[in-house]
Amino acid sequence: MEQDISSLYGDDGGFQNDTISRNSSSLWHKIIKAGKEIDKAGIPFSSSFTRVIGNGMTTSFRFDIWLPNSTKNLCSTFPRLFALETNKSCLVAERVGNSNHGLEGYWEWTNSIRGRALSDLNNLSDSIAAGPMLSDKDDSWSWSLKSNGSFTLATRKNLVVRGIDIDPICPFCEELDEDSAHLFVKCRYTIPLWRNFFSWWHAAINIPNDIPNAINATTYNIGPENINKVMWATSRILLWLIWRWRNKLVHGPIDQRQAVKDEDIMVSLRVISHLWLSNRKKMIHGEFNSWKTNPKSLVM
Ligand SMILES: [Zn+2]
Repeated sequence: MEQDISSLYGDDGGFQNDTISRNSSSLWHKIIKAGKEIDKAGIPFSSSFTRVIGNGMTTSFRFDIWLPNSTKNLCSTFPRLFALETNKSCLVAERVGNSNHGLEGYWEWTNSIRGRALSDLNNLSDSIAAGPMLSDKDDSWSWSLKSNGSFTLATRKNLVVRGIDIDPICPFCEELDEDSAHLFVKCRYTIPLWRNFFSWWHAAINIPNDIPNAINATTYNIGPENINKVMWATSRILLWLIWRWRNKLVHGPIDQRQAVKDEDIMVSLRVISHLWLSNRKKMIHGEFNSWKTNPKSLVM
């Protein structure tokens, strides 16, 4: 069972600066809502990330998981149709539009659809019709929790393992295959984030060597229980930011890739974690400037 806990915000880089407008009531509303839901969930053992559709302009129709209540993307649910797709990297906005009876598909096939592919297409059309209508909002990410403890992401390596013919190389280093462990904790782009993470907490550097290690609370055992808990919560936010960063890189314009790679994720981490965790007053309390340099000092 999958439970969406928060729909946050789009990839517009609104959190890239140390200073943040406090006038954005909808942003605050979302953050408060997210914080409450995280509390309710007791900080998850496992998490995954799914797309929430706005205008469909930055979501891959076939590779992203974007239909509500689905756990697989459309290329793995309908491999026959994927094989017949003319534009494998098409966006949601290019394949569906609003109609009187829900979302409607606009298809471009390399060949005529018949036989089993035709019944697949009927099923796909039904799923889409029940999907969310497009809006004028940006697409955003939702952080969802799975109670079964699994951690599956549509990394390129996973798609290749499932027989989807795309380049499995990591989009950051472009040197090694992109599986979850590589992306989150072993890439030369993400290792420095973990090093900075532990330095920020004035803790011994203890870079997780795999995903279970990264999500296990014992990795963040540096002091009294309340400090460990807040540090652990910030590690979850770091994982979420890495996934968001990766998707921005993969689905964004090619000419902006270097700019995306150069983004300072640690700045986002400090800002977002301060917003989230201070909303829950029992977790942290105090000024951002102190949080930025000595997060332990804000732990309640
Ligand atoms: Zn890499």
